[in-house]
Amino acid sequence: MSAVKRFLDRIMLLDLFTGLGVTAKNMFKKKHTVQYPEERWEPADRFRGMFRLDEDRCIKCTLCARDCPIDIIYIDWHSEKNEVTGKKQKLLTRFDIDVQRCMFCGLCEEACPTEPKSIWLTSKSYELASYDRWSNLYVDMDDLMDWKIRPDYTDEEIR
Ligand code: SF4
Ligand code: SF4
Repeated sequence: MSAVKRFLDRIMLLDLFTGLGVTAKNMFKKKHTVQYPEERWEPADRFRGMFRLDEDRCIKCTLCARDCPIDIIYIDWHSEKNEVTGKKQKLLTRFDIDVQRCMFCGLCEEACPTEPKSIWLTSKSYELASYDRWSNLYVDMDDLMDWKIRPDYTDEEIR
């Protein structure tokens, strides 16, 4: 910046008028403020939120756990004879995710071979704030299959 412009800036407060110009330009634009929690923001379809798991679809292949770059998916399963069909079937005994360390990269969902996916992150739930990370952000199979929006001030369910 030239010395003349710097001098003019100082005495004529050009920066101030530039700032006021930006304020005036935005004053009449549509506002995007949402009065949370009375109103809630609806994320885009591609938004990666809280996980969901469908145990029936899951084939217990553990590919999601193996593809997780930080190894925070813990899966245990066992085989059991189905009383009706007489055939052996795999049953989940544990499907935990340590969400507090998750970076929501979506690689686990990508790795899942079932169609539709057995694990997915597009649940649109972004309300994961918690006072107790160990009890609320370490989720087990029941949580993953029946995750409700956690804050008490709303009883809306997620998709
Ligand atoms: S979203 Fe990424 S970090 Fe989180 S559990 Fe899935 S693979 Fe792991
Ligand atoms: S990749 Fe999919 S099918 Fe395989 S264990 Fe994970 S959720 Fe189940």
